Amino acid sequence: MQGDAYLKCIDPQCGLEYPIESTNVQCEEGHLLDVKYKNKPSTGLKEIFYKRRNSEGSIFNESGVWRFRELLNFCQIDTENLEECSKYLVSLDGAEGRQSKPYQMSKAAEFIEISTKNLWLQPEGYNPSGSFKDNGMATAVTHAKMVGAKKIVCASTGNTSASAGMFAANEGIDCDVYIPAGQIAPGKLSQAYQFGAQILEIDGNFDDALKQSLEDAQNHEGYTVNSINPFRIEGQKTIPFRALEYLNWESPDWIVYPGGALGNTSSCGKAMMELYEWGWIKKIPRIAVINSEGASTLSDLYNGKFEGEELRWNKGNPNTELISRYYDHLDKEGIRPKTKATAIQIGRPANILKGLRALEFTNGIATTVTDSEMLDGMSVVGLNGFDCEMASGASVVGIKKLISEEIIKKDDVVVGILTGRQKDAMLPVEYHQNPKNIFAKPPKN
Ligand SMILES: [Zn+2]
Repeated sequence: MQGDAYLKCIDPQCGLEYPIESTNVQCEEGHLLDVKYKNKPSTGLKEIFYKRRNSEGSIFNESGVWRFRELLNFCQIDTENLEECSKYLVSLDGAEGRQSKPYQMSKAAEFIEISTKNLWLQPEGYNPSGSFKDNGMATAVTHAKMVGAKKIVCASTGNTSASAGMFAANEGIDCDVYIPAGQIAPGKLSQAYQFGAQILEIDGNFDDALKQSLEDAQNHEGYTVNSINPFRIEGQKTIPFRALEYLNWESPDWIVYPGGALGNTSSCGKAMMELYEWGWIKKIPRIAVINSEGASTLSDLYNGKFEGEELRWNKGNPNTELISRYYDHLDKEGIRPKTKATAIQIGRPANILKGLRALEFTNGIATTVTDSEMLDGMSVVGLNGFDCEMASGASVVGIKKLISEEIIKKDDVVVGILTGRQKDAMLPVEYHQNPKNIFAKPPKN
């Protein structure tokens, strides 16, 4: 298997390639990279994946990420050799992705106005650190270990820092978390503190913190674990893998994600491109990305709300100048991303080009929902006995909106991803204290 996996620039006109041990997150021309595989995994693996659900004591079978290890074998190991797995693959004792699968939620279906049997919602909040990030962190930290990194580095104000800190603590390596000074409520970093991460406060905004973290990684032998890292994307492919496996590899009509940095959109797109090319699926599900109205970069550009041009991947020729002009416009007008759903409060999605590629391949769409709608979505998930964060509510109300607009048809099968569990305890309390909210149950006295 040696030589099967490598890195390749996503820009088809550039196409620079790098060995799999490279820690570059971009090519020399500044384009994003993909992890690529030369071999085509046999569809016979579907049965092996299913059998591994009886883990027989192996954490790599228990893990919802490493159960699919042949489809992300960038370590190029003998995947049946568990000793080799232990040596290379990083895992939180098999817990990442272990509890993740799609569920039917009747009250959410009733609210959305879709039949219960056609709606699947997949909570990623039951990952050990509380969000989908553990999927991609397992693979990124595996690559960090493969290249001998002693420290992982990220810029984050929430879920990423929690996941990075947890994996670093488990592996006995250092973790630096860059944040903009004075702009982050300390409570949002409580998990990072708990797992022993080093917080570094940077003068400036979140983009400055990310820039500083990338520079630090490059100059001080740190390893970047933000979703710009192509190995993060590999682990996040297992989110749709688990959904598809549960549906017997019959593609749904739609897969719906909240839209932030677009790492999930990118990974779902890459997963579908690979599965289709490998003959694992016959139908390509359409991806719907749901932005917050207050942080709607993708939706604005994709739907032609800026300068009237609908931004597309355009077979690898996207109008990147349009994106630059949009960002200049945000700066000039002093427009900052603003939503209470902080997990998707992102104005400059790092993976926008991979996201556009995913939408082009899947004939996808992008739209927006309001904060108050997201809170309703979050709350109706709770009424089914499932916990989720406010950003995850975007998937629920996004589906509702797209059904009302007849973009999603009533007999379509839809999978919505619930990205994380509640980490802001006051959001549900405040929601339920206001009797005007649809699902509010105010306290009695
Ligand atoms: Zn390139």
